[in-house]
Amino acid sequence: MAKAPKAAKSSAIPVGKLTPDEAEAELARLAADIGRADEAYYNNDKPEITDAEYDALRRRNLLIEKRFPKLKRKDSPSDRVGAPPSAKFEKAKHAAPMLSLDNAFNDDDVAEFVKRVRKFLGLKEDDAVAFTAEPKIDGLSLNLRYEKGELKIAATRGDGETGENVTSNALTIADIPKSLKGAPEILEVRGEVFMSHEDFEALNKRLVAEGEDAAPNPRNVAAGSLRQLDAAVTASRPLNFFAYAWGELSEPLADTQMEAVQKLRKLGFKTNALMKRFDNVEKLLGHYREIEARRASLGYDIDGVVYKVDRLDYQDRLGFVSRHPRWATAHKFPAEKATTVLEKIDIQVGRTGKLTPVARLKPVTVGGVVVTNATLHNEDYIVEKDIRVGDTVIIQRAGDVIPQVVEVVQEKRRKGVRRFKFPTECPVCGSHAVNEENPATGKADVDKRCTGGLICAAQAKERLKHFVSRQAFDIEGLGTKQIESFFDEGIVKEPAGIFTLRQRQDAGAIDLYRYDLDDKGARKRDKAGKEKPPTNLKSVQNLFDAIDERRRISLPRLINALGIRHVGETNARLFALHYGDFKSLYEAATKAREEDAPAYEDMLTIDGVGALVARGLIDFFDEPHNRDAVDRLLDEIDPQQAEAAASSSPVAGKTVVFTGTLETMTRDEAKAQAQTLGAKVSGSVSAKTDYVVAGPGAGSKLKKAEALGVAVLTEADWAALVAR
Ligand SMILES: [Zn+2]
Repeated sequence: MAKAPKAAKSSAIPVGKLTPDEAEAELARLAADIGRADEAYYNNDKPEITDAEYDALRRRNLLIEKRFPKLKRKDSPSDRVGAPPSAKFEKAKHAAPMLSLDNAFNDDDVAEFVKRVRKFLGLKEDDAVAFTAEPKIDGLSLNLRYEKGELKIAATRGDGETGENVTSNALTIADIPKSLKGAPEILEVRGEVFMSHEDFEALNKRLVAEGEDAAPNPRNVAAGSLRQLDAAVTASRPLNFFAYAWGELSEPLADTQMEAVQKLRKLGFKTNALMKRFDNVEKLLGHYREIEARRASLGYDIDGVVYKVDRLDYQDRLGFVSRHPRWATAHKFPAEKATTVLEKIDIQVGRTGKLTPVARLKPVTVGGVVVTNATLHNEDYIVEKDIRVGDTVIIQRAGDVIPQVVEVVQEKRRKGVRRFKFPTECPVCGSHAVNEENPATGKADVDKRCTGGLICAAQAKERLKHFVSRQAFDIEGLGTKQIESFFDEGIVKEPAGIFTLRQRQDAGAIDLYRYDLDDKGARKRDKAGKEKPPTNLKSVQNLFDAIDERRRISLPRLINALGIRHVGETNARLFALHYGDFKSLYEAATKAREEDAPAYEDMLTIDGVGALVARGLIDFFDEPHNRDAVDRLLDEIDPQQAEAAASSSPVAGKTVVFTGTLETMTRDEAKAQAQTLGAKVSGSVSAKTDYVVAGPGAGSKLKKAEALGVAVLTEADWAALVAR
């Protein structure tokens, strides 16, 4: 029976009981933990935690976001797929993005998924909807582009938009046909590269015999092998490929998922024989359990079961939310656990000042990966579980990031181990660390926060890291480690400082050539761990060039980078679309300080922006220090105007309000469709509204539209308009 992994339940507070402040802090912690795991997994091919644990982190993150949609972070892991491509390979931009799947962790999640699909499509109770169910292969996703039947390019997923061109390596994989007969003129086949258990064991035997380290697990070997710069090495590693999806197509493969995959098989690809089609939740779950029972004997690693809506026209209607398709979900297997000794507890300070305890562990292997750190969440968690330094603890790893300590093995506690004393001061700046009172509940927050604010180096550093993060300025070669060095040495203290580096170097005010930078922007070290003497002039020049490249910055990225409370990537995009340019946003935020100001009301007409988010933006620009920092930054950069998503659409850039009952589609579907076409969907009618789409039962909004002379469309008018 699939139960929710403990990771989701055993965090200090159940999601349903979190206060907004706790939720915000928890989201911050989760973003950091998931980010670290992604980094370890995608860029180092060396995961630090198990898949199941990783999934548990993502799940908790998602649940909190669902409960507090307004608290969703700009760098929310939910919006992110993997890590940016490594610098070793030529980049390959995907013709159609390679998205990741949303996850389900228990039966209820699956039932909820099916319910959501039905609701979105507006299906009646007795309307059948079929789903496919297939094993989720634990390997590396690959996109194979065939033009006129010839394999042109094979690319890894990368960040979903851009992957690595690994064509020459992919050509060495026997399961990947070089040419196809009877394929559409353009056909992108997607699937998973993996290594069988048998081949994995043989390879490890060979590696050990040759005096090398044994590989941790088949997925890492598959990833490492496919990303070899020398194709001969890839060829020496027996890799397999299962096809299960597609990207760009010049003509449709079929009408259903099942038939499309069958078509891929006919074209010469291996597909998974366990893929089946069912028409209700019970049967899907039955197949999940059957696959789970056979997991050990399949001969390759799987980490769950994927369900997809079978009808492709339904898939089209369902479309995407954030970066997940609404029509698919991955039902994951539960987490893996191990026992080890907790040697030390360190305290980390986050961007918002939150103090997070981290367990340093005696190294232990969980699911083939060595784990040395685990999160302890917060003070209450340590107290509640009575976790002490020296204890034998059970840790749990799910997926690819930071594991967590789930419980103490009390019988193994040695005499004399003391309770952990949580610090009352920030370990970085020495300011008091307090549990702030939550204004909504009047209760003390579960997290201790450093009160140092602007003087706290840890917070300032974390804000800078956020500024250069992938969904913000994303400067190549300027990573976390380099920001740390630059900050610690006083070279960069605020965002504007990044853009004056070249000028200061040229003026002799700083000397970056002292650093020897590796491709992630960290100082290189010799084998003994000592910093290498400076030699690499090129990487410094490359860094300056990469920084200059980012002076022209898209508006959503800039807004996101500022780290405004409650303004996540999603809200940054909404603000960008609404205000069009940074100056307008800046002015509006300043004018909206009074709650009765028209600017404030206008801000609240943005669909998806509520009072909390608006407050976050207004408060940020109300702070003179923030305005000064932004002004200095604006001297250095050139924010671009926001563009409508699909400028060729007749409704791109238009503001639309839906009201009343829609008949051919649900309201959610209508909104999603409008946004996909580049329209802004607003919740209320104003003089800025371009169209009001009114169905039966429309009331005050329709009246207001008529009073303001806004164009009113029927649902049929709207359908005709967007069909143009
Ligand atoms: Zn501090």
